[in-house]
Amino acid sequence: MMKIKKVDLFLTSMKLVQPFRTHQETVADRQSILVKVTDDEGHSGWGEVVAFSSPWYTEETIETAWHMLTEFFIPTIIQGEWKSPREVNEALSRWKRNQMAKAGIEMAVWDLFAKRDSVSLAEYIGGVRKEVKAGIVVSMDSPERMLSTIESRIIEGYERIKVKIDPTNDYEMLKVIKDAYPDIALLADANSAYSLKDVERLKNLDSLKLLMIEQPLAADDIVEHAELQKILSTPVCLDESIVSLHDARNAIKLGSCKVMSIKIGRVGGLANAIDIYNLCEEHDIPVWCGGMLETGISRAFHIALASLPNFTIPGDLSASSRYWEQDVIIPEVVVEHGNVKVPEGPGIGFKVDETFIEQITKRKATFHA
Ligand SMILES: [Mg+2]
Repeated sequence: MMKIKKVDLFLTSMKLVQPFRTHQETVADRQSILVKVTDDEGHSGWGEVVAFSSPWYTEETIETAWHMLTEFFIPTIIQGEWKSPREVNEALSRWKRNQMAKAGIEMAVWDLFAKRDSVSLAEYIGGVRKEVKAGIVVSMDSPERMLSTIESRIIEGYERIKVKIDPTNDYEMLKVIKDAYPDIALLADANSAYSLKDVERLKNLDSLKLLMIEQPLAADDIVEHAELQKILSTPVCLDESIVSLHDARNAIKLGSCKVMSIKIGRVGGLANAIDIYNLCEEHDIPVWCGGMLETGISRAFHIALASLPNFTIPGDLSASSRYWEQDVIIPEVVVEHGNVKVPEGPGIGFKVDETFIEQITKRKATFHA
């Protein structure tokens, strides 16, 4: 049995090495909530809320997450005795949605349990891979600048490149990239920039033989995605549409996608991410790990998750230096020959740099049992 004695929240802000542009929002200063959970034996686990400052990706923001954590989620779990991280996940499920806020604290509990057992988080959840394939997301830019960025990434060893598209910037830009690098695994993420009115436009992308097109339609267009997938030969991958196991089940039943991206924050925690992973495996749906412009803490969780055997497609798993001058973990995440090593130390397997976290913290709160 584990008793939570203390929870610390750190609202942090870090500048991205390069502002990240999608059709909806440009992120330059990345706010996060880092969550530290300490048990009665003095072990600590870390988690991260990956909501953005504005609600462009999902409806959550850093401030809504702060509110949910401080008013509801922390009070729900701080007095309890817990047998497993799943029990904590179930206790939080009495509250509706707010997946990223829930995930932030649930992740910290997983890290804590793995540390109590002195095993790596990867091993704790049944991971088998010693290293996972890296992938990179390239910010929207002029075709020339994107090509030069992609060239640098290929030299660094990345074998899977993802670009953001919208109806003003799709076929031509993708064609330029495909012509320059015909063998690269290229995927296009639309972040819901299209509707079924754009079917012809999307159909036109089939000739480019993309690895997949990610989230072309709106998050709640699960039926429309099924219609679209019937028309497209390019596999549709769902991201924003899948925030729960229930969503994943519906998408598979309807044929709304051929691939799924799993992000621990988006689906409300690691337990839910593993449930969705298992469901996809049962239905032969390949999965990969998404990224959230997150710090090394959330990335460490995604590295552990991606060590499960059915993560067959390289995820948005990139080096810390692609995002940050300095990461909050030691050592930082590095990519070698297109791979990231899965750490073997207890829990997330990285040391959390609390001195640095104090420096980037804008607001702090501590809760005692
Ligand atoms: Mg996406």
